[in-house]
Amino acid sequence: MRLRLGAAALCMALLLTGCGAAAQESSPDTGTESEVPSASTDIFAMDTYMTVTCYGERCEEAVEAAENEIRRLDDLLSVGNADSEISVVNRDGTGTVSEDTAEMVAEALSLYDTTGGAFDITVYPLMELWGFTTGAFAVPDAAALADALAASGSDKVTLDGGIVTLPEGQGIDLGGIAKGFTSARLMEIFKEYDLVSGVVSLGGNVQCYGTKPDGSLWRCGIQDPNHPDSDSYLGVLSLADKAVITSGAYERYFVDEATGETYHHILDPKTGYPANNGLLSVSVVSANGMLADGLSTACYVMGLKQSIDYWRSYGSDFDLILMDESGEVYVTEPIAEQFTSDFTVHVISQEGVS
Ligand code: ADP
Ligand code: MG
Repeated sequence: MRLRLGAAALCMALLLTGCGAAAQESSPDTGTESEVPSASTDIFAMDTYMTVTCYGERCEEAVEAAENEIRRLDDLLSVGNADSEISVVNRDGTGTVSEDTAEMVAEALSLYDTTGGAFDITVYPLMELWGFTTGAFAVPDAAALADALAASGSDKVTLDGGIVTLPEGQGIDLGGIAKGFTSARLMEIFKEYDLVSGVVSLGGNVQCYGTKPDGSLWRCGIQDPNHPDSDSYLGVLSLADKAVITSGAYERYFVDEATGETYHHILDPKTGYPANNGLLSVSVVSANGMLADGLSTACYVMGLKQSIDYWRSYGSDFDLILMDESGEVYVTEPIAEQFTSDFTVHVISQEGVS
């Protein structure tokens, strides 16, 4: 469904949520926004709800180009579509992929190395065993899980001149990185159409182009993982020209009726079970959407201490906002001043955690 914003909607300030649909707050003093034409659309793609909003003379064309690009990338990557490039590689064990897919696979393989295997696109057979690919959820049989684990590992995947090759028994899933790649691509489209500003929320993963049309910063509300269906936030980050990508157990999960146990969709590649390393929510903030997405998944798997170590080693182009099981929040120093929260907030720096 396409939604065009009318004049009244243009007088609203966006408070983007880190998960779910974008919520809007009234703001009486943003009259200048109404001078910039805007267009917006809601899309269901990549198994999630997306909103694209553009401000500028060519906003309508930009929204249309963005929607087309989302659909094109979805067709390329979807494991639910038997003809997608990824499905062909998974079926045949090898395949020639487009530059876009190759770029994502290359980034995924590099993240596998730097995260010590926490980010691993070869979790696909494990995702299948848990039923996340079909909706036929079940706790896997131990022997089947052990077999899938033995075959997994991105170190066994090769990418050579656009040809991806997997060993027997492996399959790949770019679900941990695809939405960030897509939001980054949409920023390129916004530039081509000379927009004043723009913002996308792809299943709660937000990326903004420029500032808001009135020149003020965007405000991105990060969902409280303990109350994901409410309007309460873990915190709010002010930002421009960046992605805020969040991973949390509350996003996609099932409950085993026999035991009442909850199982979510981010798997620990070392155990084959849903990751459970003490974090409830990980947001990665970066100008690089694809990196932010891959890392949100990886840090969720790594847990607090390893995520802090990772940021200290590699964090020149990303920042973190984490919530642990006790409900305390951790934010890296470079974005600490732009972040507000009602929770106890610790600041992570190179030297320590305060
Ligand atoms: P979402 O896509 O729900 O926003 P994530 O970015 O954290 O959340 O990605 C989760 C998806 O990534 C899963 O649905 C699955 O496709 C894939 N995935 C799960 N575990 C891993 C992992 N350890 N490494 C890489 N990809 C993973
Ligand atoms: Mg991710």
